[in-house]
Amino acid sequence: MKEIILLKEGEIALKGLNRRTFEDAMIKNIRRRLKPFGKFSFERSQSTVVIRPLDDDIDLDAVEDYVSKIFGIAAYCRAAVVKKDFETICEQTLSYIGEELSLARTFKVNAKRADKHFPMKSPEICAELGGKILEAYPHLTVDVKNPDITVTVEVRQDSAYVHSGNKKGAGGIPVGTSGQAMLLLSGGIDSPVAAYMMAKRGLKLSAIHYVSPPYTSDRARQKVERLCEKLTPWCGDMAFYCVPFTELQEKLRDNCPEELFTIIMRRLMMEIAQRIAEREGMQALITGESVGQVASQTMGAIVCTDAACRMPVFRPVIGMDKTEIIEIARKIDTFDISIEPYEDCCTVFTPKHPKTRPVLAEVEAAQNGFDFEPLIAWAVENTELKIIRYSDICG
Ligand code: ATP
Ligand code: MG
Repeated sequence: MKEIILLKEGEIALKGLNRRTFEDAMIKNIRRRLKPFGKFSFERSQSTVVIRPLDDDIDLDAVEDYVSKIFGIAAYCRAAVVKKDFETICEQTLSYIGEELSLARTFKVNAKRADKHFPMKSPEICAELGGKILEAYPHLTVDVKNPDITVTVEVRQDSAYVHSGNKKGAGGIPVGTSGQAMLLLSGGIDSPVAAYMMAKRGLKLSAIHYVSPPYTSDRARQKVERLCEKLTPWCGDMAFYCVPFTELQEKLRDNCPEELFTIIMRRLMMEIAQRIAEREGMQALITGESVGQVASQTMGAIVCTDAACRMPVFRPVIGMDKTEIIEIARKIDTFDISIEPYEDCCTVFTPKHPKTRPVLAEVEAAQNGFDFEPLIAWAVENTELKIIRYSDICG
């Protein structure tokens, strides 16, 4: 029996004249991501995209799993392609969905007849097929409101598709349709979640990470690269920029008031991120900050950090509690890596008493007291770039 995957568009179906552009972007993303699995054809009809495997040995379970992480898809399902003849439809439905039906308690049949030449109307298909199912599985009862399984038959022009109902897709809009942004990616729990949330709104992301060897280890950096890999099923391939930050931190420690260390360091991080983002044509920064979580994330600290930014900074987890952030981190499978105990450059030279209410004028005066410019320029120039590819981690 031939199988296909049906994708139902979400928000993009409402995009009016721009819809085609959004659809094209989504199909391009899917094509690229499914490449490692084999050859497929893609067709669109109304607000559905049909993915048809062209090779026989394609692992559809894996394909389904990846499809569930592609933004722009509201719902998806795996369906059997069946000859458009009612007897065959019944037979194949019973064999294709048989196991699920034997485990369920209630069901209903949902028929859609796109081909109006098909001799039976939808209510007739539902009634007749429902009867056959009850004959084969007498333990079942029909529940039209809240069934365990919705046996669905879609009669199309070429053939009929049979499946057991839709699964929830990733939602959002296709990655790349909202422009590009630079994510400040630490090894923590919050920034990978911030990445997921902004990719969901259509942003194409690159990641920047600051390291301070020998204070931070190579394993700490590798941990962040692994986090980045975990993000690729959602975000697609990502450019990963690794900034050598040691010297800036040492000079900062030696030349500025200790209690302002963290806030000036964050301003320097923003400056470096912006220079690379501007060079690469990106339009915004993203961080995993959440108000009040730590000393550098008080309102006052955020005001001082923002004052060093020329581009908008998106902080999608700003109003979330840690428990809410962790829930998403588990869902996107970054949590277990995030809690591995490695040092971060942010915790190197941390002052004992960081200022929780820094005054911008004071911060600027302290920062201007030392010429960081040559070190910033050097850090930007010596930033390493690595492309983290989705295809390297799948399969
Ligand atoms: P996270 O869980 O994302 O590490 P956090 O609660 O530990 O966040 P901070 O350490 O204050 O908070 O960092 C705030 C934000 O600054 C992070 O969410 C991230 O966007 C950025 N950041 C922190 N450290 C680094 C780093 N070494 N490289 C890149 N970005 C960083
Ligand atoms: Mg952190």
